[in-house]
Amino acid sequence: MARIVQKYGGTSVGTPDRIRAVARRLIARKRAGDDVVAVVSAMGHVTDELVELASAICSDPPDREMDMLLSTGEQVSIALLAMAIHAEGHDAISFTGPQVGIVTDPVHGKAKIQEVRGDRILEALAEGKIVIVAGFQGATEDGQITTLGRGGSDTTAVAVAAGTHADVCEIYTDVDGVFTADPRIVPAARKLDSIGYEAMLEMAASGAGVLQLRSVEFARNHGVVIHCRSSFNDSPGTIVKEADSTMEQAIISGVTHDTSEAKVTIRDVPDRPGVAALVFTCMADANVNVDMIIQNVSEDGTTDISFTSPKTDLVRAKRAAEEVVAELEARTYSVDESIAKISLVGAGMKTHPGVAAQMFRTLADAGVNIDLISTSSIRISCVIEGDKVGTAVRALHTSFGLDSDAVIAEVSPGCGEEV
Ligand code: ADP
Ligand code: ASP
Ligand code: MG
Repeated sequence: MARIVQKYGGTSVGTPDRIRAVARRLIARKRAGDDVVAVVSAMGHVTDELVELASAICSDPPDREMDMLLSTGEQVSIALLAMAIHAEGHDAISFTGPQVGIVTDPVHGKAKIQEVRGDRILEALAEGKIVIVAGFQGATEDGQITTLGRGGSDTTAVAVAAGTHADVCEIYTDVDGVFTADPRIVPAARKLDSIGYEAMLEMAASGAGVLQLRSVEFARNHGVVIHCRSSFNDSPGTIVKEADSTMEQAIISGVTHDTSEAKVTIRDVPDRPGVAALVFTCMADANVNVDMIIQNVSEDGTTDISFTSPKTDLVRAKRAAEEVVAELEARTYSVDESIAKISLVGAGMKTHPGVAAQMFRTLADAGVNIDLISTSSIRISCVIEGDKVGTAVRALHTSFGLDSDAVIAEVSPGCGEEV
């Protein structure tokens, strides 16, 4: 008998029929003799609709009240799924995140899970029930409801798997697994059979929303093996685990894109020590996440500082930018929301010079201008104009031989082959 955690995303529980289909899947696993815990997201686009509803009331709702609102989406789907299981003659019980002891820090909207007290889940499993847990939510030590950031149900699932010592964490979604690029943008994308935590972290961090970044971090830190797969068929998906010698060592694992960030530029700031520290201290104090940063060459003792931030942090970023402009007597600040970030990710990149050059050449040939560049040892990212994102991702996917049936020969790192 195994203990399994299965997570179903919004599309997978998007209609009553789909909820019934998920119920039947869970019952089949239970009948096969396994202990089953389901973690579910809100139905379809419910979370987006709740966000819109809030913005129809005010432009900058209090973070605490936003979490009170957004956490309701998952409460609907857990109850409906429990009812669907009951309707099939099986026993199930639904719990909110706080009810099963998902304890988080107090950062509303992007809270981090600190602890999962698995006892209540284990008790219900021992009573023979299928246990259903609301994804995306938890509570602070003093009982404030929090949410874990968009896509956070993945993290709930991994945390519940760790907290209950489950044998596997299956993340069911609307595609067959993790692909070499978003299959909605690149039809020739290829499903990966397995990927190491390190490469998956970079893919998730740079826009592959199929797994939330935090869920991969949590899985790596607690040794949880993720099986990301489709809820619409039984095909094996992608295994995410510690990279080992049996795993493919692709030079490039994938091409990702992210249109969720905006670029903020503070113009004509004095070019002297301490200025960058002040700008980014103000952003940090305002709880603004900063991703890529560039400082232009100084002219006449002043310079521009640009950085990218999630659009969801933009109201706070603008407020902080106003303070910075006043404090530094800078000229002004501007915001560009029409940017995209595209990235090339691959553990084999470490040992293969020439990847960056090929990336920039490919983008140039496709008529795509590069605005900002950042790198890690296994990722190269470029900020480009938002309307070129599809062209750019497809061009890179082809250029690096990732189009299906044309994948670059897998090699072990260090053998010296150049891309
Ligand atoms: P869920 O609601 O099940 O959590 P998400 O919408 O969060 O589903 O994630 C699945 C989506 O992720 C897919 O529909 C796909 O468009 C997108 N996606 C982006 N990059 C990738 C990738 N590299 N591989 C697979 N899917 C990707
Ligand atoms: N419902 C939340 C969202 O849409 C959490 C999730 O689906 O993972 O972001
Ligand atoms: Mg998701």
